[in-house]
Amino acid sequence: MGITRQNEGVTIDFDCQFKVHLKDSRISTILACFAALLPQLLMDFFQKVLVGFGEYAMALEKKPFACKCGNNADFIWKTRHGKKTNIHGFYCWLKLHQLQVQCKRCGRKMYITRKLLGMEPMKRISPTIYRKLGLLGSLTTFRVAEKIGDMFGWAVNKMTIWSAVQKTASEIDFKLDAKELPHGEADGTGIGIKGIAKRGKELKVLVQYKRGGGVRVAGLDLGNYNGSWDNLFQNSIDVFKRFSQFLLLTDGDTAILDSVKDKVKIIFQRCLWHIPHQAKYVLWQDAVKRKSTEWLHVIAELMEICAIRPFVDCRQTIEMMVESKRNRLEEIIRYCRENGYTNTVSYLENARPDMFTALEKRLNGKTTSKVERVMRTVNMRANVSKWSKVGALNVTKVRLAYYYNGFDA
Ligand SMILES: [Zn+2]
Repeated sequence: MGITRQNEGVTIDFDCQFKVHLKDSRISTILACFAALLPQLLMDFFQKVLVGFGEYAMALEKKPFACKCGNNADFIWKTRHGKKTNIHGFYCWLKLHQLQVQCKRCGRKMYITRKLLGMEPMKRISPTIYRKLGLLGSLTTFRVAEKIGDMFGWAVNKMTIWSAVQKTASEIDFKLDAKELPHGEADGTGIGIKGIAKRGKELKVLVQYKRGGGVRVAGLDLGNYNGSWDNLFQNSIDVFKRFSQFLLLTDGDTAILDSVKDKVKIIFQRCLWHIPHQAKYVLWQDAVKRKSTEWLHVIAELMEICAIRPFVDCRQTIEMMVESKRNRLEEIIRYCRENGYTNTVSYLENARPDMFTALEKRLNGKTTSKVERVMRTVNMRANVSKWSKVGALNVTKVRLAYYYNGFDA
């Protein structure tokens, strides 16, 4: 029946016969007709290959499958065209006739279709396929992904892509890499969540600097504004312990890192880039009118205080710079207190002890934040829909794993 067994694998001859009706010979008509033919061809192709390999396997002395009783040698065919099962064939869903064999030792019947396909029992979509669809759904919207598929003759709907994103994300985990640099940043960005008014939830990201330049994602969490940052660092605690020191730039709460603070030297640094931005938020809380004289004074001063010249390598100069910046910071805190900006005062007082740590250690007090770039990558996808909490986290996971951690499908 056109199946030749070879040393490795099988060769299968196809006699393809199909009848199509086209109204004209325009390229669009031909392509539309082919797209309609594709699912049928694919289904037959799968079916025939499966039967071919089923025959091949049955002729082997030791089968590539085993019965629950332990027998992996003696089987007879029950059927090559049994009950249909749904399996995803990447271009579309396929209804395949199952292949069933019977154990000659105990009489138990078993389907071997998924074994031949290299799939888990009962599963309808294989990891190689859901990872591709999952990546697609994280790179663009579900609607666009569906549209692109449609243009190429796929029949893959939004729900399938959505669920592929969830599955793919469940396999991805972020943590620090002990082989990369002891230097990172943590930051948060707002994401709109269904049913939550205004600022929604905060997505928190921990990035680690790489030896070869650039960053990798080492932690991800979605939670409340001003909420706990514990989840972000949790996975990486044991890796923190392996570094002799770690420089972390963050504006977030790092209470969970207290446990490793004694064992290893972690240098906390308020992300200076972030301070004027956060200040806008606390000034708003204090009902200071945007762009008013007072508002401009506070923001302009903070911008100056937080701007740090790179490549200053003279110790005395740095000390003088830090002293001058501290004085200016005191001035602006006093100004805010006199004006009754209580939120702004408490924000700045909180940040004060850690603001110039990195600069003082001459460990590079950068003014531009690498994590900000990561956040833009997140926002390009996250800001185009309203998300459930889990949905937003999962789509971001896959996206960041692809852009920063070498994930591909
Ligand atoms: Zn058996």
